[in-house]
Amino acid sequence: MKDAYDVIVVGAGPAGSVAARYAAEGGASVLLIEKRQEIGDPIRCAEGVGIYDLDKFIDIEERLIASPIKGATIYVPDGTSIKMRAKDEDQIYGYILERKIFDRALAERAAKAGAEVYTKTSATGLVMKDGRVAGVKVKRLGVEKEISANIVIGADGVESKVGRWAGINTTLKPSDIETGVQYLMANIEIDQDNVEFFMGNQFAPGGYVWIFPKGPGRANVGIGLLGSKIKDGGRPVDYLNKFVEERFPNGKIIEMDYGGVPVSGGIDKIYGAGIMLVGDAGQLSDPITGGGIKHGLWSGEIAGTVAAEAVKAGDFTEKFLKKYQKNWEDKCGKLLSRDLILKEYYINMSDEEANELVKSLKDVDFTGVLEVGQLVKILAKVDKKLLLKLGANQ
Ligand code: FAD
Repeated sequence: MKDAYDVIVVGAGPAGSVAARYAAEGGASVLLIEKRQEIGDPIRCAEGVGIYDLDKFIDIEERLIASPIKGATIYVPDGTSIKMRAKDEDQIYGYILERKIFDRALAERAAKAGAEVYTKTSATGLVMKDGRVAGVKVKRLGVEKEISANIVIGADGVESKVGRWAGINTTLKPSDIETGVQYLMANIEIDQDNVEFFMGNQFAPGGYVWIFPKGPGRANVGIGLLGSKIKDGGRPVDYLNKFVEERFPNGKIIEMDYGGVPVSGGIDKIYGAGIMLVGDAGQLSDPITGGGIKHGLWSGEIAGTVAAEAVKAGDFTEKFLKKYQKNWEDKCGKLLSRDLILKEYYINMSDEEANELVKSLKDVDFTGVLEVGQLVKILAKVDKKLLLKLGANQ
């Protein structure tokens, strides 16, 4: 490890590895550090991702995929459901990944582009100089060291400290963070090419339960909910256990993971002098689905590209790095604000309203409806309240 780099990326999740790759490909000298000893392990994710744009970031090799997905079923509390399926039975529209392998493969791409990668290396603080970020204090195998950098990219996930160290307000309101708990279950029977969602307060107040297939006899079965919406004093894990006991009485839990999912739609400012925040560190995940893999990849690409441009221009000021936020908003701003509206609409919906809404869709053919955007258009046709809320965002 050298004493100085153009760019240091803290955290080797999807967002950090992609940021490191694009900065290195743009000609910057890059250090990528990860506090865990193994990139991608343990996972804190249901591992579902849409196919769109994915091959830009990674070669879709078999080893990365647990199950290719061709359909989704959404259930509401009274058991009514919406079944979405591709028009062509061979069409894959998403994957359940093997994230342990996926995250590592992304880090390998960063390394191939020229980034230095160090695991078991924690950022413990930032080096500040003349009011700007100028490096990272790191601890590796018990040894502390200061490393200089013109730009630091905070990719340290939902519990990010890098933003706070840089003076960026990263506080999350209770209504802006979902609590996620998940089991990898074995000895269960489910369709391997279909994902299932269980919506409504009965299953998960302000959130949902998911079943994502992970190969023969296995699935990620998890819950994401808003603690602020729980009325009966139950814990997220109690809701999940109740679901699992009813649905998979013979299932066995072979792994458990949990974590927070930011659903704020992004913090107001994701950059500063010498600093940018990507992925969950910038709370850039989707407020309605909680999905953050793709948002991590996209924000990592944009931040890494801007970092390389800043290095070429020799300009690390707040004014220059503002380009990161602008490019991010140009790409995802409209999507995030639509999904924030959807989140508000959904978390204020009663179970009875959810049942009625889905019942009113019983004659709709959902073949070929594969994305949230397509589903929203159908929902807005039958629910004028939603149409009104979406307004110009439609
Ligand atoms: P992370 O993947 O969290 O990576 C951050 C990295 O930074 C970690 O490796 C961490 O060890 C490292 N780090 C932290 N602090 C330091 C430090 N001080 N020094 C060095 N390294 C540090 N998203 C989807 O798209 N699909 C899903 O199906 C899905 N399911 C989910 C289910 C659950 C239960 C949870 C909790 C989340 C889920 N998500 C899902 C969200 C998704 O996992 C995250 O949005 C995604 O991992 C964010 O990527 P990231 O690179 O920003 O952060």
